Amino acid sequence: MFDYRLERTEGAARAGVFTTPHGDVATPAFMPVGTQGTVKGVAPDELDRMGATMVLSNTYHLYLRPGHELVAELGGLHAFMRWPGPLLTDSGGFQVFSLAASNEVREDGVVFQSHIDGSRHVFTPESVMEIERSLGADVVMAFDQCPSGGCSESEARTATERTLRWLERCRRRFHELADERAVPEQTLFPVLQGNVYDGLRREQARGFADMGEWDGWAIGGLSVGEEKPAMWRTLELLDGEIPKGRPRYLMGVGYPDDLLEAVARGCDLFDCVAPTRNARHGTAWTAAGQVNVKAARFRSDRLPLDPGCDCPACVGYDRAYIRHLFVANEMLGLRLVSLHNLRFLLRLAEQARAHILDGSFRAWSADWLERYRGTRV
Ligand SMILES: [Zn+2]
Repeated sequence: MFDYRLERTEGAARAGVFTTPHGDVATPAFMPVGTQGTVKGVAPDELDRMGATMVLSNTYHLYLRPGHELVAELGGLHAFMRWPGPLLTDSGGFQVFSLAASNEVREDGVVFQSHIDGSRHVFTPESVMEIERSLGADVVMAFDQCPSGGCSESEARTATERTLRWLERCRRRFHELADERAVPEQTLFPVLQGNVYDGLRREQARGFADMGEWDGWAIGGLSVGEEKPAMWRTLELLDGEIPKGRPRYLMGVGYPDDLLEAVARGCDLFDCVAPTRNARHGTAWTAAGQVNVKAARFRSDRLPLDPGCDCPACVGYDRAYIRHLFVANEMLGLRLVSLHNLRFLLRLAEQARAHILDGSFRAWSADWLERYRGTRV
C-alpha cells in the first residue's frame, strides 16, 4: 500500500512519488499544516486547487480538543476535516515539550499539563499509537523525545537513547492494534533525533535500521534554533545513512530558502506553520524576498503581491488592496496572504521537482536563492 518510487536524482536532490492509500504524493512536496484539523483560514478544496497533495495535523491538539475518540466516532480524521487526500499526524512529542504548560519526562512516557485548561495527561509510546490509530492518518509519527536546540551532547544522547527504546514500543503497539481491531491502512515513520551531534545522528539512524524496514523516515530535532550550517551538515550526514529508496520527511521546515537547501541535501517532504503564521502577521514571500504587506510604499501599488505567482490572491488582487485589508483589520486580508504563502511554497516544491526531473536543479536553485536573498521589493 505504501511505496516510494525514485524517478531521478541530481546530486543528492531527489524527485519521486510516494504512494499512500489516499493517493500519490509527488516529491519534493510541501505539506500544509492543519494544526487543529484545519489549515488556518483555508478550506480543503482551496488546498487541493493550489496543488497540496498531503496535509499534516497535530495529535497533541486533536487529542485535547475535540478528542481522538470523537474524531474516530465521526469517521476518522479524513472524514472529519473533509480532506480526502493523504494525511500525516505528528506524534505530539514536539508539542508536549514545547507547548504544554508543564511536562515531566519519565521512562514510561511524558506527564504534561494541557495548555488549554491545565488538566493533567500522560502520553506514552503506546497511548500515542492508540490516538494516532484512532485519528486514522495515512502516515503516523513515532513518539519521540525532542530536546531543545542548543542542548548538550549528553542531554541529546539521553533523548536519542530514549527515542530508540520508545520506537520499539511504538512499533509493537502499532502492529498489535492492527491485530486487535479493524484499523485503516497506515504506516509508522520513525523520527530521528540527535540534534547536530554527528555521532548521535549516525547511531540513531543505524539503531532504527537495525529494527527493520520502514516505509519512510522522519528527521526531527532540526530547525529548533541551531545554526544553519550545522543543520545542513547534519542533513548531508543523514543522506548517507538513510536508505535511498524511502521518502525522507524533514520536520518543521520551512521557509522558502531552507526548503531548497534541504531538497539539495536529499529531503523529500516538508511541513511548517510559517506560511499561515507569517500571513497573519502580514508577511508575504515573493521571489525577491520577504515583504511586509502593510508597508506604506504599497499604498497605491497596483502590482500583485508577487508578479510571478498564480495563487488566488495574486491573480485577483493588487498590493494596494491587500495592504488596505490589513490596515483595516479585515479578515479577507489574512486569508489572501495565507493562500499566497501556501501556494508560494507548494509551487516552489513543484518547481524544484520539475528542475530535478530535467537535470537543471542546481543551476536553477542557485539563481533562485540569489534573487530571494539578494533584494527587497
Ligand atoms: Zn500569490
